[in-house]
Amino acid sequence: MTDSPMSPHERAMALQRVNADLLWLILDDNWTRARTVLGNSEIQSELRAQRYDHIGGRSSGDIDYADPTGEAVARTASDEVRAGVIERVWYDELTIVTEFVTFIAETVETITGIERPAPRFGLGTRSHIATCSELVLWMLDGPPPPPELPLGIPHAAPVPLLSTALDGCDHEQQAEVDASIRGAAEHAQALRSGKLYHHTPDGVQVAIPSVHSVLHSARKVLAQKATEPAPKQKAVGCRNHARFGQHADLSADSASWCDQCRNFRRREGVMPTEAIVRHWEIHPTYPPPGLILEAKAKGKRRKAS
Ligand SMILES: [Zn+2]
Repeated sequence: MTDSPMSPHERAMALQRVNADLLWLILDDNWTRARTVLGNSEIQSELRAQRYDHIGGRSSGDIDYADPTGEAVARTASDEVRAGVIERVWYDELTIVTEFVTFIAETVETITGIERPAPRFGLGTRSHIATCSELVLWMLDGPPPPPELPLGIPHAAPVPLLSTALDGCDHEQQAEVDASIRGAAEHAQALRSGKLYHHTPDGVQVAIPSVHSVLHSARKVLAQKATEPAPKQKAVGCRNHARFGQHADLSADSASWCDQCRNFRRREGVMPTEAIVRHWEIHPTYPPPGLILEAKAKGKRRKAS
């Protein structure tokens, strides 16, 4: 039952998870990097292409199936519009977590009479996260010790303000706090790596990817790109050289031959033989007449047969 009273241990664990989920968002700049991914049209189109590949054989239970491009938000909308909707949902989600955590801290403050840390100035992501983090630590461990405490004097033991406060309040108030703790944990987890939703003005519910989901999908796309073989032309090189186990870069003017083979063929009407290719290995000069005659004779024989 989700609305049974939580134990002091469960409350502390849940709030620590909220803190961990929120701190993850700014660890390694995850939030910022995810926003960059949303704004990267190359990665976005790659992700869309992959999604179309999967239609018909979707794997359920895959964490990043939750619409990594936010495509359902607006199938015809530009990447910027999609990114905007996703970022707004993320920010709203973070605001909800901050509101829950603030409500719990206010309750603790009212009951204990101990002043809670002031919220961080600003509406940015980091301000929200810092505010929540400080409130959670204050509720679980009590106010931080004064910094001017001289060395050698033992710090006061942590004061678990939350459980102290909840010991002294009625069931209704406890239930309210528990619901807020659960709410904060649920939304923080969803924002980090769970399921998010957006409701369009016409009442359609669409899936929104979590921050982790966006980063995970982008990593997959980038890893895939990194292992893709280089374009064939570069790998193959001159087809005539390749016949003799040699490599020569393709001519800028030919899809099949290198400059040497291409020029030779234009001038003599036949492809350079193995002897000529071997000659070029040692001398970058035009092949001697003997080799040219031999090549032409071979060409004739081939035509005759
Ligand atoms: Zn060649």
